[in-house]
Amino acid sequence: MKKERLVSLVVPVYNEEDNLQHFYEAARDVMDKLPYRWELIFVDDGSSDSSRTMLAEMEVQDERVQAIFLARNYGHQTALTCGLDYADGDAVISMDGDMQHPPELLPRLLELWEQGYDIVQTVRKATEDAGLLKRLTSVGYYRVLNMITSVPIREGGSDFRLLDREAVLALRQHREHARFLRGLVSSLGFRQTIFEFTAPPRFAGRSKYSLRKMLRLAMDGVFTCSAFPLRLGLYAGMVSALFAVLLIIHVLYETFVAQNVVSGWPTLVACFAFFGGLQLMLMGVMGEYVARIYDEAKQRPLYLVQEYGHRSEVRKRRQEKTETESGQRSGHGDAE
Ligand code: UDP
Ligand code: MG
Repeated sequence: MKKERLVSLVVPVYNEEDNLQHFYEAARDVMDKLPYRWELIFVDDGSSDSSRTMLAEMEVQDERVQAIFLARNYGHQTALTCGLDYADGDAVISMDGDMQHPPELLPRLLELWEQGYDIVQTVRKATEDAGLLKRLTSVGYYRVLNMITSVPIREGGSDFRLLDREAVLALRQHREHARFLRGLVSSLGFRQTIFEFTAPPRFAGRSKYSLRKMLRLAMDGVFTCSAFPLRLGLYAGMVSALFAVLLIIHVLYETFVAQNVVSGWPTLVACFAFFGGLQLMLMGVMGEYVARIYDEAKQRPLYLVQEYGHRSEVRKRRQEKTETESGQRSGHGDAE
């Protein structure tokens, strides 16, 4: 019989103890109905609750589950990257573990893959629990981002996406530290399509994206996809040079033609304040790029894996489990 193709689900996990079991069951029930072999790769991003124990247990119970434990909290984008590095599937689907990327949509993504698309990027039409402020800032952010970058990045683009093996291999060659996967994937090319969905509220727990993490992601989006902020200095410089020329003409006119003594104190103070602020701001922008260059120059690994499924341990415990079960079936209750 022809071997069915393998689909990998990649799920970053950060303190999701109340979601894991529910998510696993939902994903399993959907995948079991489809004509594919599948694997579920959880990347634990340094959780401090019982997620780790739960994942280790799940790995023993179901051999299609793999858990990778990162050495500390690296953030969603890096955890996702790690999962993509370890996934063996012919199609690899990344999704969140909090049910905001509904497993029941998996067949629809795979249908599009079967139609020949290499990348199926989902776009949130709405997030049921997102406040007005989050929605407005998101719309504004993507507008600006699209204005200053050459790769189109869809507003509402999420990290729920399907990648064909070829696209995964291409993505793996991008090892930059400041990661904004939406922009990176969009820049890959290949045959891409969009799939719209409404994100339901989180099943349990609170969002793990703190304001700080969200700002960092937003800045990475701008500074890794575009050099426009750097050029801003050039444009601002040109405008202020023009302004200075006009000012000089004005001063010369007042002094020599109108014979007025120039009472320039307020103008001077205003100019100092304005250009001082502008210069500091542009230095800050340069600082953002320099910091990123510094990060890349260190060439540190993107992430450190503390434990990868302690594979031999898992195999041993699985074997014990099978022995116990077969022991029970043949009437010998105690296998120890
Ligand atoms: N996540 C992670 N590391 C982090 C923050 C989040 O692996 O530092 C995971 C989290 O467990 C979830 C996914 O990334 O599976 C998306 O996070 P969350 O639901 O908190 O983001 P939101 O949906 O609020 O944007
Ligand atoms: Mg979420």
